Amino acid sequence: MPRVLLIATTTGYQTRAFGEAAEYLGIDLVFATDRCHQLDNPWRDNAVPVRFHDEPQSLAAIEDMAREGPVDGVLAVGDRPALFAALAAAALGVPGHPPGGVRVCGNKLDTRRRLAAAGLPCPPFLELPVDADLEGFLGDVAFPCVVKPLALSGSRGVIRADDPGELRTAVSRVRRLLARGEIRQRRDPSDAQLVVESFIPGREYALEGVLKDGVLHVLALFDKPDPLDGPFFEETIYVTPSGEPDTQRDRIVEAVAEAIRVLGLHHGPVHAECRVNERGVYLLEVAARPIGGLCARALGFRGHGDRVVSLEELLLRHAIGEPVHGYRLEPGASAVMMIPIPRAGTYRRVEGVSAARAVPGVVDVVVTAKPDQRLEPLPEGASYLGFIFTRAAESGDAVRALRQAHDRLHVVIDPPIPVV
Ligand code: ADP
Ligand code: CA
Repeated sequence: MPRVLLIATTTGYQTRAFGEAAEYLGIDLVFATDRCHQLDNPWRDNAVPVRFHDEPQSLAAIEDMAREGPVDGVLAVGDRPALFAALAAAALGVPGHPPGGVRVCGNKLDTRRRLAAAGLPCPPFLELPVDADLEGFLGDVAFPCVVKPLALSGSRGVIRADDPGELRTAVSRVRRLLARGEIRQRRDPSDAQLVVESFIPGREYALEGVLKDGVLHVLALFDKPDPLDGPFFEETIYVTPSGEPDTQRDRIVEAVAEAIRVLGLHHGPVHAECRVNERGVYLLEVAARPIGGLCARALGFRGHGDRVVSLEELLLRHAIGEPVHGYRLEPGASAVMMIPIPRAGTYRRVEGVSAARAVPGVVDVVVTAKPDQRLEPLPEGASYLGFIFTRAAESGDAVRALRQAHDRLHVVIDPPIPVV
């Protein structure tokens, strides 16, 4: 039985999807999860206990586990796990992304430096130490700009500013976010800096792919049909296939492949995001992991037979050395909406789910928020209400179905308890 190690922060939807695919494939899937996030229920999942901030000790735990039986491949969900997966793959001598490359990808400033040094399209940017006096930097900033932390995800802490006043407000807001306990406990040294970069106008795309020995196999190119112009950048809709003409798609794929080379990824899943305008394809980020949340459910692949293969199954097959270049997206269009959090407060319920499910083209509506959960919108928040999935013959129809279904949802949120 082949064995694959899956690194995650905690167990959740994504790790369960890998678990189901592993069971189907007859793969022994071993989890390694971050003990810093599960102090309350440590051994529930039989996972190898690791602590992402303590690499040597965590790698030793992985090596102990591998002595019980060889590991054929390593996968990760999430950005920090992706780095740890690269370290584990190197320690175990199995194919993976080089840790150096994953480190660069996990840091927005290092990514900018690397892309700029290679002469790839990159907005002017500057490094702002989190406790520095902003006034001394203002003269070097071109507006509009975007300020962001280096190692958060899901657009957390990403804020557009059109003038010095807005930038002052934005920077203090990001500072307050980074000072929160839940962020400080990650002990990530990259939280000591911010990057301030020029706002890149244009349309946004995401690419899902897998690298085999440095060669990119594109699994899906998504359009993000909602304009993302700030001041906050809530991701909502992804739709594939992209409605762009072939030449434009080729241009995006080539730019992503070039960035991946420059950033130093080599073997395993990649998820890239870029903004495109008449001046070029600007990479926002390349991540050494698959697309997050439940979004992978929007992707189904066909190999030789008629069976639909999930992204998780495809990645597991790749991890044990099976060729996956024969897999293609299912015919037709598929879209997903990450249901935005409309305002802060205490989540009670969503009404209209059945009505939303009844919209033609809707595959599923999944509410992931839990009753009584405290909801916080961007730029501070880190979650969605849930997900809507649609399929249609054409991308435009899949997007229309998403919007219709979303209109039928009524989210009940009680106002936040005032702080006295
Ligand atoms: P995260 O890792 O949190 O997703 P990103 O760097 O991908 O951070 O930024 C999140 C979103 O913010 C992007 O998808 C994009 O919409 C917007 N964004 C980030 N940087 C810029 C920029 N320089 N110009 C325009 N939009 C940007
Ligand atoms: Ca992003």
